[in-house]
Amino acid sequence: MLCLGIESTAHTFSCAVIEKNQKRGKILSDVRRIYKPPEGQGIHPREASRHHIENSSSILSECLDESKIKINDLDMIAYAGGPGLGPCLRVGAVVARSLSSYYKIPIYPVNHAIGHLDLGKLLTGAKNPLVLLVSGGHTMLLAFVSGRWRVFGETLDITLGQLLDQFGRSLGFASPCGRKIEELAIKSSKYIPLPYTVKGNDVSFSGLLSAAKNITSEGFDSACFSLQETAFAMIAEATERALSFTNKKELMIVGGVAANKRLSSMLKDVCRRQDSKFFVVPLNYAGDCGSQIAWTGLLQSQVKKSASMKDTFVKQSWRLDTVDIDY
Ligand code: AMP
Ligand code: MG
Repeated sequence: MLCLGIESTAHTFSCAVIEKNQKRGKILSDVRRIYKPPEGQGIHPREASRHHIENSSSILSECLDESKIKINDLDMIAYAGGPGLGPCLRVGAVVARSLSSYYKIPIYPVNHAIGHLDLGKLLTGAKNPLVLLVSGGHTMLLAFVSGRWRVFGETLDITLGQLLDQFGRSLGFASPCGRKIEELAIKSSKYIPLPYTVKGNDVSFSGLLSAAKNITSEGFDSACFSLQETAFAMIAEATERALSFTNKKELMIVGGVAANKRLSSMLKDVCRRQDSKFFVVPLNYAGDCGSQIAWTGLLQSQVKKSASMKDTFVKQSWRLDTVDIDY
């Protein structure tokens, strides 16, 4: 079974082809291009969607060339139906619908966040993990219970990715800023106290963001170090409590911020204490990509019929805990 996955929820336009053989999935190609806003600014949805429109056909051609297949070889197409930025989502949906109707290929809308979880499980081999999803759009602790991913904790305001990106932009860096902040943080070990806000199993980052902006005069390196230490310790505390409560013996971390080594090292300590195995999605597949959409589409196709054209929706708000999963 060959599936083309199309991702366009925010900054990334990506196409990927995965071949599924029983339970195994092989990524044949995964091509992406990322919209970069001007330095100091966030994503402008209209500009990002223009980037996606301009790049979509060359990314699709590259993806098919790399996978060495022709469009007619595809058994199905999956696209990210949400959650995400409306103008960006529509580009991916239009590309998917056009290919599907012209070449008569079955089409599946996919929840982007569930794509992160399914691809994480495929690539790490985790079976029944507690999941920490940390990205530009999500900060959630999740466990699969009774046919749905259930939320055990989440951010009450901005996401961990937004915290890093907004702080980085205040220093004048171009978004996304997570990697730059990580590079600066490694150069310091001076901790400047910052607000630490864990409420039950939820976290809140907006007060931390405001306070961190006020300590930059003490040096960018120390400010980045203190921001990371505080935010990641909050996440680690909530994760440890959720592991203990759910008694899961695996922890898997997915989403763009999963690329951060300091976060992984703190979570490894948590796993050691809770006697759980630690899995982190490979760096190259931590962020948004077509593979996450293709793989979830393939899993869905085991139990669901393809969508009719009138059901090929996009939804800006589409929480993953509202999706029934029966594959
Ligand atoms: P996603 O939405 O899954 O594509 O993830 C994007 C987010 O990951 C952005 O907020 C980035 O700043 C963040 N990110 C990427 N690399 C790193 C890193 N090495 N450390 C922390 N955050 C990162
Ligand atoms: Mg994402």
